[in-house]
Amino acid sequence: MEPVVVADLKLDLNVRGLLHTLRVDEASADGKSILALVEKATAIGKPKGMYKQAFIDDVGDSHVVIDGIRFDSRVLRVNLDGIHRVFPYVVTAGRELDAWAMTVEGMLEQYWADKIKEAVLGSAFRDFTARLVATYSMGTTAVMNPGSLEDWPISEQSKLFELLGDPKEAIGVELTESCLMIPTKSISGIRFATEITFENCQLCARENCPGRRAPYDPLLYESRYR
Ligand code: SF4
Repeated sequence: MEPVVVADLKLDLNVRGLLHTLRVDEASADGKSILALVEKATAIGKPKGMYKQAFIDDVGDSHVVIDGIRFDSRVLRVNLDGIHRVFPYVVTAGRELDAWAMTVEGMLEQYWADKIKEAVLGSAFRDFTARLVATYSMGTTAVMNPGSLEDWPISEQSKLFELLGDPKEAIGVELTESCLMIPTKSISGIRFATEITFENCQLCARENCPGRRAPYDPLLYESRYR
């Protein structure tokens, strides 16, 4: 299947939530500056995503081959047990916002702009996921992201991009030599329908991570993936 570009993702910011996270009162001078930045970002931002319906050709002990491309990860391999179809994707807050953020003056204002871009990515990702899941009637899904776990290193990101074709041409996202994404406010991964509950965070011991979505389970790797 050819990759699908979703260029009209929602930019629906929870401004109250953002101000709360930034610990800024809406009525204060800082609050007004943030609201002005949000207004600009909302007018300029064009978050986008792309995905592809892909199929598993082969599996080994610690790898899977998807549409002819081999991914090396024991966790991915086990999580895809009995699954034939997956959806690699990239979602980005977009180059337009990156260019805008570079014009913002003042250190504090630049920090706020960065947080606004993060919120735009969050809003776009929720919309992208809901549309993808609904389009393919997937029900419960899980996701794995290259670089989130030692088991599936960031170097595998280039294979994910190869699987998707040309994310730079399609939605303006490219990889650095160390496989980080530009724009930085971008997310990549592989989504799949599954009955099991899986979050990368269950296998990640990092303490005080603000992005944690599930508690660390020190026994999970041994019991499910060894
Ligand atoms: S705990 Fe944090 S670093 Fe670890 S996988 Fe979850 S979000 Fe990523």
